[in-house]
Amino acid sequence: MTIDIKNLVRKNILNLQPYSSARDEFEGKNGIFLDANENPFGNLNRYPDPSQRKIKEKLSELNQISIENIFLGNGSDEAIDLAFRIFCEPKKDKVLTFSPTYGMYEVSANINDVELINLDLDKNFQIDLETLKPYLNDENLKIIFICSPNNPTGNSIQNIKYILENFNGIVFIDEAYIDFSPEETFRNQIENYPNLIVSQTFSKAWGMASVRVGIAYASDEIIKFYNKIKPPYNISQLNQDAILNTIDNEKINQVSENIEIILKEKKNLIENLEEVDLVKKIYPSDANFILVKVDNADSVYQKLVNQNVIIRNRNSVIKNCLRITVGSPEENKKLLKTLKSIN
Ligand SMILES: *Cc1c(COP(=O)(O)O)cnc(C)c1O
Repeated sequence: MTIDIKNLVRKNILNLQPYSSARDEFEGKNGIFLDANENPFGNLNRYPDPSQRKIKEKLSELNQISIENIFLGNGSDEAIDLAFRIFCEPKKDKVLTFSPTYGMYEVSANINDVELINLDLDKNFQIDLETLKPYLNDENLKIIFICSPNNPTGNSIQNIKYILENFNGIVFIDEAYIDFSPEETFRNQIENYPNLIVSQTFSKAWGMASVRVGIAYASDEIIKFYNKIKPPYNISQLNQDAILNTIDNEKINQVSENIEIILKEKKNLIENLEEVDLVKKIYPSDANFILVKVDNADSVYQKLVNQNVIIRNRNSVIKNCLRITVGSPEENKKLLKTLKSIN
């Protein structure tokens, strides 16, 4: 199966003459910079590197992946939104998701005026391939979004390979929680699948949600389109510095240690939740959160809020389910204590 990415790209994006910033035209370090109408005074007076080269070099080294295969966005939400803008003709093209899942795919579809086909996951929150198959040949179906581990259910999704091998559009795998998971990332598969985009983020396992930096890994052809349409300075210097500071070797060890603590806490939390009467079911999780079923989710949620313990009420998407993020040991103790006091 050969896929020509250009055939999937919107015509106006193919033909687009991108904005060329002063920093794109001249990349040298030394000189008197009178090219960008910057203010000569101050510490934050210069525009940041539009291609975020230093971060990409670190990621490249860390993950054995070429810089040409990396896009950095203002959160992975930007990587999601730009995928719509590259591939989906408003009012004509479609995307497909499996629900329940992360809400941003639908919001981005609505913002971009692109139809969203929503297929239900089965009772184990897995993709039902038989239901999916008829859609795979729809020429206007441009992107299939797969969130694995899936939010809010927590499980890893199976059969992704089948979709990669049988769909000629873009397969967008959202791996926001992959660093908590024993499953392998699809990042290393971008060489085999030119239509694959794998998004990851600094917001979860890296503990940098406030910084707003997400990553898309894909074939250099796709990444070129990302770079073509992104706002030129989409990641500020302050944010670039914050990330560079964290991917520094010593800090990476701290990140790994924190992941270990969170996973240990998750195990502990699950064991303790099994002892809580109002918890009816605990779903398997490969992420840093746990989905639980209770008798009356709205009531349990409200009672927790009244005691200043905030979890996510997912009753509207999965009947009587609550999503609990694994916190620090103290926070988890407080949660359990409060839950046990509720009746
Ligand atoms: C939290 C989360 C993200 C992260 O988005 P950022 O914009 O990078 O903070 C992406 N996808 C899913 C499924 C998430 O739950």
